[in-house]
Amino acid sequence: MLKPIKHTIKSSIRKQDFPKSFRKRVLAAPLPNYKFKGFPITLLLKKVWATQLRTSKFVNIAKVDIVNNHEINFTTVTREPGGKPRLHRLRVYSSDPNYEGRLVDCKSVRYECDCEDHKYRKEVADTMNNISNIKYSNGNMPLQTNPSLIPGICKHAFKAMMYIYQHKL
Ligand SMILES: [Zn+2]
Repeated sequence: MLKPIKHTIKSSIRKQDFPKSFRKRVLAAPLPNYKFKGFPITLLLKKVWATQLRTSKFVNIAKVDIVNNHEINFTTVTREPGGKPRLHRLRVYSSDPNYEGRLVDCKSVRYECDCEDHKYRKEVADTMNNISNIKYSNGNMPLQTNPSLIPGICKHAFKAMMYIYQHKL
């Protein structure tokens, strides 16, 4: 006959290994320095979700503002059939402010877009993956819109990054 599993062992181990003070310390610890980790534009382009890839055909680049070689601002205009044209502003930049070289060659690129897809669905997940920063959202977990925290670029960022890639900026 099998011995019954002692449930108390598990909980006592958990208590010993993770006392309250330890958990407090872990939660209070600053996040690791991810400054130079991230993805280049060639890999970011692959992070676009299927819907955004499909609807990116309605997005056009209206304005390109090259701030310097590691930061480019874009204005896009989206004309979906039956809808009013919508403008969005976004910024694509190197994670390293001292980066010298073309953005297309940069190993760690981030972006911020003022659209709702980015704000409500992806900003937190993207920030956790070092491809964005908390700028437009309140930083709360997107429990309803992206509970698995899957990173992904919005359709505007997809178009902007395609532009950078094609023009080798
Ligand atoms: Zn966007």
